[in-house]
Amino acid sequence: MKARKLLMIPGPIEFEPAVMQTMAVPTPSHVAPNFIETFGRALELMREVWCAPSGQPFAIAGTGTLAMDMAAANLTENGDPVLVVSTGYFGERYAEILRRYGAAVDVLSAPPGETVSLDQVEHQLKQKAYKLMTFTHVDTSTAVLNDARAFGELGGKYGVLTVLDGVCSVAGEEIRQEQWGLDVVLTASQKAVGVPPGLALMVVSQKALAAFRNRQTPVCNYYADWGNWLPIMEAYENRKPAYFGTPAVNLIMALQTSLDLIVQEGMDARFRRHRQTGTAVRAALKAMGLNAIPSGDAWSANTLSAPYFPEGVNGGELLGHISAAGVILAGGLLPSLKTRYFRIGHMGAVNRSDVLATVGAVESGLRKCGFPVESGAGLNAAQQVLDTE
Ligand SMILES: *Cc1c(COP(=O)(O)O)cnc(C)c1O
Repeated sequence: MKARKLLMIPGPIEFEPAVMQTMAVPTPSHVAPNFIETFGRALELMREVWCAPSGQPFAIAGTGTLAMDMAAANLTENGDPVLVVSTGYFGERYAEILRRYGAAVDVLSAPPGETVSLDQVEHQLKQKAYKLMTFTHVDTSTAVLNDARAFGELGGKYGVLTVLDGVCSVAGEEIRQEQWGLDVVLTASQKAVGVPPGLALMVVSQKALAAFRNRQTPVCNYYADWGNWLPIMEAYENRKPAYFGTPAVNLIMALQTSLDLIVQEGMDARFRRHRQTGTAVRAALKAMGLNAIPSGDAWSANTLSAPYFPEGVNGGELLGHISAAGVILAGGLLPSLKTRYFRIGHMGAVNRSDVLATVGAVESGLRKCGFPVESGAGLNAAQQVLDTE
């Protein structure tokens, strides 16, 4: 019997076998011709996956938090007014990062499970000439999905640079960076992009690069300074060797492999598949009697779900039963609700069997905890969604 459990958390996710094989290749020099080709190709593929034909891609060793840090460090100077729209844990993190760089940060926060209304955001944008606005596409602590297109439009209307924290959404939720006018769309390798942890990824608009070039003061972070990395990214794309900091060679190769698979699937098909998967998991949870943190389907993420533990069920015990049934899920993350809910990641390579195995494990775990679930209720609901075209 296979010993491996299914990893259904919001990153790291289950990776494609081809991606894992690339990780095991003997590491070439970072200036070997075949690696230069691979890195250059990965950057080109990022533009396709981000739907940003004239954006500037960056792939840097680090995590998603570095990507957040980089956008903040390069686009703000001491005293710059910045608006953070927060829907949970990662919104709060973004405010903290921006304050480190001396930005004058205003935060609009939504209660758990809700979004900040677009009217409220617009009202705030009228109050002050903000330089930058950040928002979390999918806040991984609440599974709340923001309307990225509307944020892009507001940014354009009020002349504010927009930064989308897409760490839990890029290559899963629909994003059309250029068409929607988003200036920075950032993520990390281990989420829907489908590569082991270790890469900070972002695509930057020409408008944001111009703002970076117009800075009056140096970037207050040496490693994160786009001035150091831009010539490197340009060189690799022009198939020339370059060095600033040694790239994470195997991770970059794995990135190229994964992006290739994503582009082969096609972005429209991939967005549709994630919507269907998200709908199936939500339907299953509802059929089993579980409530989710997002208070409405229209702002529920398709890349992960965040259901509350039902009344009378011990969360640790439930996750233990689910793990014993072969599926690893994540606990809560938002400090105010941490022990009251759990999280299921369903992005990237996740397939129909993974979804059904997960729903089945939750169902039997609930019964073992003494919570009444009609046999097959979750599975039937999920299958009904997955069987529709
Ligand atoms: C995971 C995540 C992050 C942080 O990424 P790390 O790679 O853990 O640093 C930031 N924002 C969101 C929305 C995330 O889901």
